[in-house]
Amino acid sequence: MMQTETIPSQNVRRSFFDTKIEFLKGVGPQKAAILNTELRIFTYGDVIQYYPFRHEDRTKFYTIREMYEGMPYVQIRGKVDYVEETGEGSKKRLIAYFVDSTGEIELLWFQGIQWQAKNLKVKQEYVIFGKPQFFNGKYSVLHPEMELYDPKAVQPSGGLQPVYNLTEKLRKKFVGSKQIGQMVRQVLDQAGNHLRETLPENIIQHRQLISKLEAMESIHFPKTVHALEQAKNRLKFEELFYIQLKLLKQKLIRKVEFPGQIFKNSPEGDTFLNVFYRKHIPFDLTDAQKKVIREIYRDMSSGKQMNRLLQGDVGSGKTIVAFICMLMAIDNGAQACMMAPTEILADQHYNGLKQFADMLGIRIGCLTGSTRAAARRDIHQQLQLGMMKILVGTHALLEDVVQFKNLGLAVIDEQHRFGVAQRARLWQKNDSTPPHVLVMTATPIPRTLAMTLYGDLDVSVIDQLPAGRKPIKTVHRYDAHRLRVFGFMREQLQLGRQVYIVYPLIEESEKMSYKNLMDGYESIARAFPEYQISIVHGSMNSGDKDYEMQRFLKHETHIMVATTVIEVGVNVPNASVMVIESAEKFGLAQLHQLRGRVGRGAEQSYCVLMTDYKLSKEARTRIETMVRTTDGFEISEVDLQLRGPGDLSGTQQSGVLDLLIADLAKDQYILQEARDAATQVLEADPDLSSPQNQPIRRHIESLRKEETNWSRIS
Ligand code: ADP
Ligand code: MG
Repeated sequence: MMQTETIPSQNVRRSFFDTKIEFLKGVGPQKAAILNTELRIFTYGDVIQYYPFRHEDRTKFYTIREMYEGMPYVQIRGKVDYVEETGEGSKKRLIAYFVDSTGEIELLWFQGIQWQAKNLKVKQEYVIFGKPQFFNGKYSVLHPEMELYDPKAVQPSGGLQPVYNLTEKLRKKFVGSKQIGQMVRQVLDQAGNHLRETLPENIIQHRQLISKLEAMESIHFPKTVHALEQAKNRLKFEELFYIQLKLLKQKLIRKVEFPGQIFKNSPEGDTFLNVFYRKHIPFDLTDAQKKVIREIYRDMSSGKQMNRLLQGDVGSGKTIVAFICMLMAIDNGAQACMMAPTEILADQHYNGLKQFADMLGIRIGCLTGSTRAAARRDIHQQLQLGMMKILVGTHALLEDVVQFKNLGLAVIDEQHRFGVAQRARLWQKNDSTPPHVLVMTATPIPRTLAMTLYGDLDVSVIDQLPAGRKPIKTVHRYDAHRLRVFGFMREQLQLGRQVYIVYPLIEESEKMSYKNLMDGYESIARAFPEYQISIVHGSMNSGDKDYEMQRFLKHETHIMVATTVIEVGVNVPNASVMVIESAEKFGLAQLHQLRGRVGRGAEQSYCVLMTDYKLSKEARTRIETMVRTTDGFEISEVDLQLRGPGDLSGTQQSGVLDLLIADLAKDQYILQEARDAATQVLEADPDLSSPQNQPIRRHIESLRKEETNWSRIS
């Protein structure tokens, strides 16, 4: 529950910005309470950091002829020609026909009709302001702001007026943008030299930023559009700079404070690594794989704990990289583990790694929630004795009973699903030296997100697919052409290939998803009577799912009809066609993952995206992107642009993305600058003790205080 009283503490010095908003003129206990609950505004500091989401130019007047669809607001001088009331009961409304010399629009009221009707003065000149709607070839403005035109009245503040995000409750209590603006004005006027610079002078000079004071003024009340842009730029830079500084500092501290086990390999000996490389490795590594292995080796032999992110698209060959790194650990007398987010994935990794491990006679185990007690005890024991060298599993690995003799490398295949805290729990598996940590992401994420979500890690990228891999051909087909798609499937089946057909989950209704899938299944069964069909969906138990997947894998069935459960399913190299039904209902990351299920063998593979004729603009962009490229990083960039960072898979829980003003989708350039600046600062002055960096120290101090303030409210 909300708890707002202050907790006394010696080291929290109260500052001007901690003053409660009740002290502002026009803010009584009631208004304060509603600002607390609705906008989480408690203090002066909160008020001025409640940035407007846009501005309106109240100096600009439009004519009716100049109006266009989608304009955010309009201000027009004109007259009310006549007024009428129409409709009954809840449909009742007031229409005023408003004209200027260029045309006519409608002003509409659904509430306060009587008061409006009484007060509207026909044939008098008004200035109206509001957001226009375009409907049936006509413009209208709902509940406009209106004032009688007064040629003598000067614009109160001129320039751009701030518009703040508000809630329905606030509006009902007559708290609007104007009221928030007045609060901000009061705080800024009183702030004086409380509002101190938060960036060092040299950075401000070098980046040509405006001062903090100027920025805070202009972010709310800019004189010009240019001033607003400068304010945004400065505040975004500052926000991103402090995030990067924190992440880089964490990285630095870890490098200084956490020693790492030193793993070396000499090219001559009969180490597991050398034997594997000489005798067993089934293919040549790509240059990209070699490059990241070198990066990882450098870390693991450095004497510092490795914390590295390994990014690589589906099929880029991360598994073998992980295995080779595990061998480095094992050759040096240590053990390795790999943690996956789901049982299916853990099993798949286990099976993949076991093939390699068996070649070398290395003992490997798999531990998940469904491992039986006896097998579990056995694994625990072998790990403690150091006989078992590799353990694969789900977060069951994190349990305290799982103790290694000497864990040297922890690989996390995470798909954004494990948090920093879980990563840290793995380190504690060793009493003495923490294990090296390698985080693998199966879904490529854009650079800006990686820099923020994983900004405390070093990053390696496998940016190349193994040679000879034929890019998957992707086409878009409308539902009406299903018969032709069936024809194509038949050709592929006759060549001995297998086919996936995927249906979307319908979120609102499991029943409808199921019906969709079953209807699809029946039409496939009718069209392909000579072939065996597997079906897999979310409400089947995992035993049945596995059974069906195994049948498909063994080529006992030819067509796999499924909902998205196969996204993380088994690897079937003989499957060469992926048909995605209602592809417009899938997100880009999901489409990319699904497509990655094919193209795993030597044959040319295909992906067919089936959609309705009617597509939203966004859906069309998604489909076009999939047809244009198979590059996961490019796709993730488009996804970021379309959906924004908060909605990308798995980023929701991550607090680092709660940004006040910066936008990771749009501000990539500023982010890079901020990271560079933070790097330079820490390189030159790691403990921030130089006089010029005192603004940074002071600001970190106040940010820390803010964090403790927040923790009071939960
Ligand atoms: P992902 O990065 O998606 O985890 P995998 O490690 O599962 O990719 O590799 C995908 C497939 O490519 C596997 O069948 C693997 O054996 C194969 N592979 C990996 N590296 C190479 C390579 N350098 N040359 C040929 N095939 C490779
Ligand atoms: Mg993989």
